[in-house]
Amino acid sequence: MVVRFWGVRGSIPAPKSPAVMQELLVDVLKEFTATGAATADRIDSFVRELPAWKGAGYGGETSCAEVESEAGRIIIDAGSGLRRLGERLMQGPHGKGQGEIHLFFTHFHWDHIVGLPFFAPIFVPGNRIHLYAVQSDLELCVRQVFKKPFFPVPFEQLLSKISFHRLDPRQPLELQGVTVTPYQLDHPDPCWGYRVEETSARGRRVYAHCVDNEATRISPLDLGEDALLYKGADLCFFDAQYTLQEFLEHMNWGIHCAHRS
Ligand SMILES: [Zn+2]
Repeated sequence: MVVRFWGVRGSIPAPKSPAVMQELLVDVLKEFTATGAATADRIDSFVRELPAWKGAGYGGETSCAEVESEAGRIIIDAGSGLRRLGERLMQGPHGKGQGEIHLFFTHFHWDHIVGLPFFAPIFVPGNRIHLYAVQSDLELCVRQVFKKPFFPVPFEQLLSKISFHRLDPRQPLELQGVTVTPYQLDHPDPCWGYRVEETSARGRRVYAHCVDNEATRISPLDLGEDALLYKGADLCFFDAQYTLQEFLEHMNWGIHCAHRS
């Protein structure tokens, strides 16, 4: 199992400001000159060897995770990161109308759906797009995203074949070589995390997608069946955009702080 994060930011996409870019650039140039061999022919290799946080950086796109198994792929959340994933998929069968997408929604706050109208495979005839959620208003919410005056192309004019699938809470679904089970998170509007399991010749791997979780329930007793979301996970994505101070000022907004997460 390979998990790629195309977006992890909360609330809104956040490109770096010019001031932050300048700071990064100044730090990188200082580091380059400190090597003692700051010649033009070394720029390329120096930049490529920089860790991501020092160079181009990361973290500006909102929530979108790609889970690739030996048999296929699922996507969780359609934040702004979905646009770049779509660009990559268009280089393969999805660009020829021969692709299939399985996209799971945790909930429908803007930062988890804003990438959907910019997901190129959805416009290509022949592609089959499967959309999944526990929430009964899945289809209504998706159609709203494409409604005028919010977006120029209405849902009815999308050229791929789109299907909606309602998930049963805490019931496993097998597809693309993995088992996906939704468990409820603590969020003001209902939000469902996903436990994704793959069993292959390499063993069993578990990914827990737990975004927008205020974690008001922390004991096994409080969590009940939802404790299974986290149990034995090899990788858990638990976003936390607040500092402790910000968290105290935004209780019941459905997000946790890094300190307590
Ligand atoms: Zn949310």
